[in-house]
Amino acid sequence: MRESKSVIVCGGGIVGLCCAYYLAREGRSVTVLERNGEVRDHCALGSAGYVSPSHVIPLAAPGMVWQGLKWMLNPRSPFYIKPRLDSDLLRWSWLFMRSANRAHVERAAPILRDLCVASRALFEELDDITGHAFEFKKEGLLNLCKTAAGLDHEAHGLARIANELGVEAQILNAAQTAALEPGIKLDVAGSVYFPIDAHLTPWRFAQTLTALLKEMGVRFQWNTTIFGWRTEAGRIAAVQTTAGDLLADEFVLTGGSWAPSMLTGLGLRLPLQAGKGYSLTLPQPRFKVTKPMICTERRIAVTPMGDTLRFGGTMELSGINHHVRLERVQQIIDSVPLYFPELTAADFSGIQPWHGLRPVAPDGMPYLGRFNRYRNLTAACGHAMLGVTMAPISGLLVAEILAGRKPSVALQMLDPNRYA
Ligand SMILES: Cc1cc2nc3c(=O)[nH]c(=O)nc-3n(C[C@H](O)[C@H](O)[C@H](O)COP(=O)(O)OP(=O)(O)OC[C@H]3O[C@@H](n4cnc5c(N)ncnc54)[C@H](O)[C@@H]3O)c2cc1C
Repeated sequence: MRESKSVIVCGGGIVGLCCAYYLAREGRSVTVLERNGEVRDHCALGSAGYVSPSHVIPLAAPGMVWQGLKWMLNPRSPFYIKPRLDSDLLRWSWLFMRSANRAHVERAAPILRDLCVASRALFEELDDITGHAFEFKKEGLLNLCKTAAGLDHEAHGLARIANELGVEAQILNAAQTAALEPGIKLDVAGSVYFPIDAHLTPWRFAQTLTALLKEMGVRFQWNTTIFGWRTEAGRIAAVQTTAGDLLADEFVLTGGSWAPSMLTGLGLRLPLQAGKGYSLTLPQPRFKVTKPMICTERRIAVTPMGDTLRFGGTMELSGINHHVRLERVQQIIDSVPLYFPELTAADFSGIQPWHGLRPVAPDGMPYLGRFNRYRNLTAACGHAMLGVTMAPISGLLVAEILAGRKPSVALQMLDPNRYA
């Protein structure tokens, strides 16, 4: 039966859950379709849990092409593209190179700031509404620099751009850095501190939001795989699933790295590559950390989550697969003692690596907006390294788009039709 103002959210990751929340808050009748069961893995679960307004520079930035080419030759590097003849990857790489320039960063950075700052405020609201259920902490973020050259690079790069955009970045020497984390020994030349950043425990957030959505009347259809669409006169009439054809007034594409394959049969192009990352969580770390940190030269994220301590990183474009490259996991393990001399590789023995696939658009900007060809199909995917951070604002923007209201953040650079 068709219901008025009904919306089907296609994919139950963190972005899908947040879309469901803001749509339900507006009185929409919402169903979330998810191919896996309620107890499941998705990309946010093993993430670093950062809510990061400090991440104002898109992945496609000057220097990244040259750096990427150098790293491509090294399977242990932080960023790795598995060389292969794949037309989607070739097109994605060409679009990435086209965006990796100063003009793009200057246009993209204020939009990323607006998205992340607005989302952080929405997390604060959600934290209040849910009774502080997901360990949301406003401790800031420390970008640790092992070397003076690294600190200089951060100070003149990210920190300068962030400060110009009104996102406070403090340059700290080794003693000032140590004073912010007195419980641990750090072997660094200094750091950049971003007081506005926050972090949370992702599985708690997903669990809490799912429970809240159920209370709000959102329906979940677990173990339901989307494989096609029925269209009628420029609109989506139904989504075809393993549970049959499901009708709705509006459809929201929240399939993460699988979003392009979910569009099969619609003739829509959404360049996206899966960027695999790994994390390792120490259940009983030997010291207490209060602030999340990034080991900048090695691109390793470190997050305290409850009593545990998580280390995550690497960006591996090797297609959609669940192959764990142990040499890349080892790269994380080997990097940790360089910054945290109290830890050794032995601390990680027996810890199972988690992996997740970040949905990465070639210009480093998410896809948020209606498709021109099917006006009742809206994209909310491609958030790459910022899918946790941007999930609430993405949900709010989708609700605003569907209601025909002025969006809270300018959407031009996020248009899903930009590569059509
Ligand atoms: C190591 C690592 C660390 C990270 N750290 C951070 C961080 O600190 N901060 C941050 O902001 N971001 C971080 N990220 C990125 C963030 O985790 C992702 O951007 C985000 O989780 C993507 O969410 P999503 O909902 O778009 O996609 P997904 O979580 O992939 O959700 C998509 C859902 O769609 C479902 N689906 C797929 N195909 C179908 C189908 N055919 N039918 C039905 N359902 C389907 C999938 O099962 C899945 O549940 C990190 C990622 C990694 C890997």
